[in-house]
Amino acid sequence: MPELPEVETVARQLEPRLVGTSVVRFQVLDPLLASGPLPRIAGRTVLHVGRSGKQVLIGFSPLSPGDGALWLAVHLRMTGRLIWADPGARTARRHLRARFRLDRGRLLFYDTRRFGTMRWAPSAEHVRPAGLDPLSPALGGRRLRRLLAGSTQPLKSWLLRQDRLVGLGNIYASEILHAAGLSPWRAAGTLDGREIERLLRSTRAVLRKAIRNCGTTFSDFQDADGLTGSYQRYLEVYGREGQPCPRCGAEVARAVQQQRSTFYCPGCQR
Ligand SMILES: [Zn+2]
Repeated sequence: MPELPEVETVARQLEPRLVGTSVVRFQVLDPLLASGPLPRIAGRTVLHVGRSGKQVLIGFSPLSPGDGALWLAVHLRMTGRLIWADPGARTARRHLRARFRLDRGRLLFYDTRRFGTMRWAPSAEHVRPAGLDPLSPALGGRRLRRLLAGSTQPLKSWLLRQDRLVGLGNIYASEILHAAGLSPWRAAGTLDGREIERLLRSTRAVLRKAIRNCGTTFSDFQDADGLTGSYQRYLEVYGREGQPCPRCGAEVARAVQQQRSTFYCPGCQR
């Protein structure tokens, strides 16, 4: 499932291609995506492409002066992919759920399992996730302390909650806790000031390095060019059960928390 770095990768690749293009036509091919009447989209120009939590956010111009802007939030969920196609490029029809024809190419939304969503909104605020973005400058040590305060949840489960920090899933939660040298079972509200600083620094470092490497690909994730990420080469614990920890040499272990695998090092995450 794409997490924050994978969604950021897609948004960064789409941004230079989409900004300034005009929509010729927008078509929904999967009735699951058409829950209500669609706003008028043809004729608008793309003004903004970015990431909001785990969503790719696209901002469109008003159709006429005085008319409102329009925003689209695409949540890729399990298997969604936003693929850019140059004019004339051959593209697959299988699993295609929606399609933008633009004056400079096409933007295609593929999704094998069909859990992905497209939400249209009058402003970016309307689709802002509940949690704070871990890469936002608004997140500092004091803010993180407030978010953690009083929580008796194990740290790993706390990191997966999307209403505290947004965008972390199973892969990066395991990697961040390993980088911070914190046990996945530690009660989130018991971290002291230095541990909170370590958690914050590790979160940012792991996410930034993953973004530089275009995310992690195991089976489904593809970027906007249909290519895979390469951060899996740098994973220190995730998927490495039985292999030596790169930091202390102890054997990486796997445990199940909330029905999901947690990978950790019993040597340096006590
Ligand atoms: Zn270790």
